Amino acid sequence: MTNQMKQNKRLNLWIKIVLYIIVVGAVSVFVFFKGVEIGKRYAQENMESTMTETDMLVMDEAELEEAEEEAVKEPYVIDPLILVNKEHKLPDDYEVELKTMYDKVNRAAKEAYGPLNDMLAAGRAEGLAFEICSSYRDVAVQERLFQEDVDVLMEQGYTYEEAYAVVERETMPPGHSEHSTGLAFDIVSLGYQMLDAGQHNTPETQWLHKHCAEYGFILRYPKGKEDITKIDYESWHYRYVGVEAATYIMEQGICLEEYLELYN
Ligand SMILES: [Zn+2]
Repeated sequence: MTNQMKQNKRLNLWIKIVLYIIVVGAVSVFVFFKGVEIGKRYAQENMESTMTETDMLVMDEAELEEAEEEAVKEPYVIDPLILVNKEHKLPDDYEVELKTMYDKVNRAAKEAYGPLNDMLAAGRAEGLAFEICSSYRDVAVQERLFQEDVDVLMEQGYTYEEAYAVVERETMPPGHSEHSTGLAFDIVSLGYQMLDAGQHNTPETQWLHKHCAEYGFILRYPKGKEDITKIDYESWHYRYVGVEAATYIMEQGICLEEYLELYN
């Protein structure tokens, strides 16, 4: 064997060794990473399977709270056609954005605030003088008013059920008053503030009946609709429903329940 041949043989051996190292190294790296991946997946599956139902419930509640928080941030828009009467209770989550009226006492839902001011200003411009005697009333106040009336009757010997039935004829139970929507207002003549049959004939009330629809208001408890509204005629109780609905309702001489029936 020449020296040249010996050298070539040694070189071939080195090439084989290097190739062997490269192949074994590559296989090792592949197996290692594959192992890590499988290990990760196993750990994940194991964690999921060991998570108790309570853990998942807690997570759901937290997510729910987060979703609710986001929902609250959305500006709350009141449907001006919301129906609140003896059969239809105000939703428990009802929220109303209130604005205080010029008299610093009465409050109105922001949806009704502008139209109400405009209506009263237009009447005043014709020399009329109004008094808002009832506007927004929260459910707690309604509850107190209702309970006070029940208590008076119970002191006179009525049972709770009897007293409740009597009071309910004139006052809405808590959660059933339109005044809690912020869209209803009792408006009378400044010169005649009685909530009775005489109110109908005052110039202020006559003017309001004629013009309220132009501002989106209706007479909510009209004469002749007592069997539907379950409320005696109230010439002073106005409800904001928006101009379109108000115009139709007042022109047709129907009540809100009848109007909503047309849509169902
Ligand atoms: Zn009223």
